[in-house]
Amino acid sequence: AVQSFDKVVASVCPFCGVGCQTEVAVKDNKIVQVDGRNGYANENRLCVKGRFGYDYVMSPERLTKPLIRRDDAPKSADIDMRGADPLTVFREATWEEALDRAAGGLTSLLKAHGGKALAGFGSAKGSNEEAYLFQKLVRQGFGTNNVDHCTRLCHASSVAALMEGVGSGAVSAPFNDALKADCIIVIGARPTTNHPVAATYFKQAAKNGKKLIVIDPRRQDLMRHASHALEFKPGTDVALLNALIHVIIEEKLYDEQYIQANVSGFEALKDKVKDFSPEAMAEVCGIDAATLRDVARTYAKSERSIIFWGMGISQHTHGTDNSRCLIALALITGHVGRPGTGLHPLRGQNNVQGASDAGLIPMYFPDYKSVENADIRGQYENFWGQTLDPKRGLTVVEIVDAIHEGEIKGMYIMGENPAMSDPDQSHARQALAMLDHLVVQDIFLTETAWHADVVLPASSHAEKLGTYTNTNRQVQIGRPVLDPPGEARQDWELIVAIAKRIGLDWKYQHVSDVYAEMASMMPSLRNISWERVEREGSVIYPADAEDKPGNEIIFTDGFPTADGRGRITPADLLPPAEVPDEQYPLILTTGRLLEHWHTGAMTRRAGVLHAIEPYGIATMNPREIARQGLTQGDVIEVQTRRGTVEAILRADRDVADGMVFMPFCFNESPANELTNPMLDPFGKIPEFKYCAARVLPT
Ligand code: SF4
Repeated sequence: AVQSFDKVVASVCPFCGVGCQTEVAVKDNKIVQVDGRNGYANENRLCVKGRFGYDYVMSPERLTKPLIRRDDAPKSADIDMRGADPLTVFREATWEEALDRAAGGLTSLLKAHGGKALAGFGSAKGSNEEAYLFQKLVRQGFGTNNVDHCTRLCHASSVAALMEGVGSGAVSAPFNDALKADCIIVIGARPTTNHPVAATYFKQAAKNGKKLIVIDPRRQDLMRHASHALEFKPGTDVALLNALIHVIIEEKLYDEQYIQANVSGFEALKDKVKDFSPEAMAEVCGIDAATLRDVARTYAKSERSIIFWGMGISQHTHGTDNSRCLIALALITGHVGRPGTGLHPLRGQNNVQGASDAGLIPMYFPDYKSVENADIRGQYENFWGQTLDPKRGLTVVEIVDAIHEGEIKGMYIMGENPAMSDPDQSHARQALAMLDHLVVQDIFLTETAWHADVVLPASSHAEKLGTYTNTNRQVQIGRPVLDPPGEARQDWELIVAIAKRIGLDWKYQHVSDVYAEMASMMPSLRNISWERVEREGSVIYPADAEDKPGNEIIFTDGFPTADGRGRITPADLLPPAEVPDEQYPLILTTGRLLEHWHTGAMTRRAGVLHAIEPYGIATMNPREIARQGLTQGDVIEVQTRRGTVEAILRADRDVADGMVFMPFCFNESPANELTNPMLDPFGKIPEFKYCAARVLPT
């Protein structure tokens, strides 16, 4: 019963972009229970992570004191940190010494080599205020746009296509609108695993008799509820999607009036998809022509159709092209800008939308204003009182390459774990070890923090006040439940402490001051004051007035592009960067598990979640396991041209023949040791979803 708790705090879940609202119960200074609240996104529901994944906050492994690398502890990419004693590599330090050392190292590099020698990774797990401050520090203090975060590894290609096509990277409708749609396409996403509460709306819509079309190379639970389940060949998204567009054009199922009023590029699209008939593409994508025609007709003819997509679309070297096809589908049918219609890239992290909105990306100031636009840059130069870098900065993987080339020599990393999350992990770890100065701010001694010169113990989500923006564009408030352990401090205060030491005159008294400054520069947050978010708990942007609810649907009256029209960019079918061959005959694809979050830093320290999925696995179809002469439960080696990783083999009928799937959360079986760092040319996202591999018994 609630009465037996010391307190119950209203907050939001720290894991995925669904942004479920929570009630966190505390007893004897410990979180003892988390329940769902009746929020717009979750209506009292939580998934296993939100409900049982909280005890990482109280883990004895939390960092409680600042650490400085020992003079005799060499940096090495090969360090095996599992089970190692941190005090053999680091010594404890006072805050004064650690902050002086952290900022001093960055300042020395700045003076010796200029801002281009520095870079920062912020975090999609931090608050909007932290994201804003972090990008401001890099831009104003370091004098460079070399600032990025894990959006580069998830929806960067989707955002590139959306910015180009509809002038905004945000979703056009909330996922709740699945209940208002007549036809729902879910493509390249596995919501029952990665966005479980959002998936409940899709299942409910299917139960209500709506058409649910699930398109994914891996079989998945949502397909049991689907009217159409298309297990297509991996890497052939453009073939499949252009075939759908071909049918819509050939059978004149497009919305001519809508196109004339709102869309450019239709003629070029018609031309491009001429050769993509379902009959020609059936063999390429592995879906028969009749099914492709039926799906195209169902989507186009429905009164209201909506598309959801995930990393299966975005994490390819042709990820931007994949998203361009989805945008074209919506634009030619007029399935956008009305309730129950639209484009919704399902956001991964709890604040990847907000961190991107706040400018934690190398090409944009807050609200996606180009750093290369002189007028915009002038506004920020006036506002921050500093000349700013006129060129876009480097992205996550480009920063790693620039370290190898000796261009970047120092980094500040807050709450990100590139030693686990970047593709071609050995290359990434070598880069971290090569840095002259690395400051890591985190709650655990992550795989990345082991490479640091200075480690700053920070606050978890449960210890901080701040705003977070979920996949629906809801700005929500997260409230502190506990005090940070030991000497750990608030992240925003640490960013300010570093800023002051490198000579910036920052005077924030409270995190709400940061929000107010940020919102003053962001039209998207107009009419959404800190006081309003505190009072209402959640406000969807954009909002037309302080006393009116935000707009769930955008693009109701054209698009925020230069001419107000949506722009179609036709896409070509390109192969993945590395395809199977005799030496490496399988396709390796990576992703997440229901129980573990990203690199596992949090959920592997959560007792219930760790107990359900305790060790590193690779999964294959039982048929493929037999073909390879292996047995479920074997320890196998998965090999690619980048490396070899051991994992326990699990049989999974969802995985297609010729494929091996690995989650990237296990540091004993690090999937990203194997992945291909080749980038999509527009979104600069690596091809996590496809590379050539082989499996061997150990
Ligand atoms: Fe948390 Fe996402 Fe699960 Fe909701 S669906 S409880 S936000 S992990």
